[in-house]
Amino acid sequence: MRAASTTDPPLMQMRLERVWPNNPKRHHDQPMNTVSQLPTKQAQSALPQYPAHTQEVGITLQRGGVCPIMEKGVTVERALELALHNPLSRQTETLLLEASRGRILGKQLSSKVDDPRFDNSAMDGFAVIASDCVNIGAELTIVGTSQTGGALPPRITTGEACRIMTGAPLPEGADAIVMIEETEVNGDQVIINGPARTGYIRKRAENLSIGQEALPTGTLLSSASIALAGTMGHGEIEAIKKPRIAILSTGDELVQPGTELEAGQIYESNSHALASLVESMGCEAVRYESANDSMDELRTTLDSLSDCDAILTSGGVSMGEWDIVRKIMEEEGDISFWRIKLRPGGPPLFGTWNGTPLFGLPGNPVSSLVVFHVLVAPWIAKSLGYHPEMGPRLSQKVSVKLEENVSGAPGKVCLRRIRIRSENGQLLATTHTHQGSGNMHSMVAHNGLTLLPPDTDGKAGEVIDALWLQ
Ligand code: AMP
Ligand code: MG
Repeated sequence: MRAASTTDPPLMQMRLERVWPNNPKRHHDQPMNTVSQLPTKQAQSALPQYPAHTQEVGITLQRGGVCPIMEKGVTVERALELALHNPLSRQTETLLLEASRGRILGKQLSSKVDDPRFDNSAMDGFAVIASDCVNIGAELTIVGTSQTGGALPPRITTGEACRIMTGAPLPEGADAIVMIEETEVNGDQVIINGPARTGYIRKRAENLSIGQEALPTGTLLSSASIALAGTMGHGEIEAIKKPRIAILSTGDELVQPGTELEAGQIYESNSHALASLVESMGCEAVRYESANDSMDELRTTLDSLSDCDAILTSGGVSMGEWDIVRKIMEEEGDISFWRIKLRPGGPPLFGTWNGTPLFGLPGNPVSSLVVFHVLVAPWIAKSLGYHPEMGPRLSQKVSVKLEENVSGAPGKVCLRRIRIRSENGQLLATTHTHQGSGNMHSMVAHNGLTLLPPDTDGKAGEVIDALWLQ
């Protein structure tokens, strides 16, 4: 920790007084959303150590008036609202179209051209005048050819036809196309054996007109949307710059998969799930080696993450003595909430470490995942302005009919794992395997989560809200 001294420049003294008047425990000396100015170890050890607070609200974590108290046991909606006081910062960059797959549009795209650019044929065949072809067997004179990319075709008049390729411009005078399969060529004559269809003409601008917005800001660029950007004439796009999100598991017991386990150790899995979720949300995941349950180690690691735009930790946010993420955030960070009315996934916290937004996710593997789905993903989406339908989404809110009873949770939204399937136009939900918050297998065996309101059980046959996980 670094205290203001008489040698500090006046501005720094003023800032310290203004931002953290009542929090002598914190070791950071920059206001939020600024680059960190790291403390010296010597300065930290010179400061008194205070126990973590235990009050419900009204704690002395001052945050420049943005969120002066920590709230406990909040609803998911309130948690999101509080977290959005510290959104991810949104920046954009210009990318070549070929490098844009999976990126998110930072600026809407309007068409530079009409699509189609000109009336053209949807079929290989003959461009004709429909009234010449009412009788099967009508004979017309071939006056030219309309090819894609070629010179403009000749105008046709009554009794004439023009060969035409798919996509080639419709000759002036023509108002219908006869498919090549329904014609017979005899020298410079063509015999019409099938209908002349106006529907085989693709009209200029029937898909898009110049200036029309077709890809809104916040669209996830899929193969189809990239192709559409190309159709509209855009060789470059403005994409949302991927925020770097640090992922840090905590726990003395954690060992990376693929190595030997010693007594009491388990394989670390949360960071892998979180990294993949972060990437699916259009961000860059920066996975770190898991930290031990040591305040000093955690502090050093958190301080080293200043080049990241947000931090996700897992583990160590409950009530216990070893729950050091909660402890260090209480004592040295800024917390805006701790604990959510959610089951599973009750213990998370959100705050800032040295100005960087930090979600302290629970250690239980299922809990950390579901909290990402219901809280972190919407925070990313809202921070970066993702389009609600066309942006990256990990889940979709749907109505499902329960096939069996599922119990809710007192005072909490209950996220029971369910298997959703579609039958006769209705979504049906069943549950399998046991639902412990450490049972990752259950997250694979299921593909959805109930959204049972607090104190509400779900009965077989009832239609309830659920999240369908993508
Ligand atoms: P904690 O929240 O730290 O008390 O952890 C709760 C439970 O989740 C404990 O059984 C931990 O061993 C387990 N756990 C914590 N972090 C991870 C992780 N990154 N991967 C797998 N399991 C974890
Ligand atoms: Mg732990």
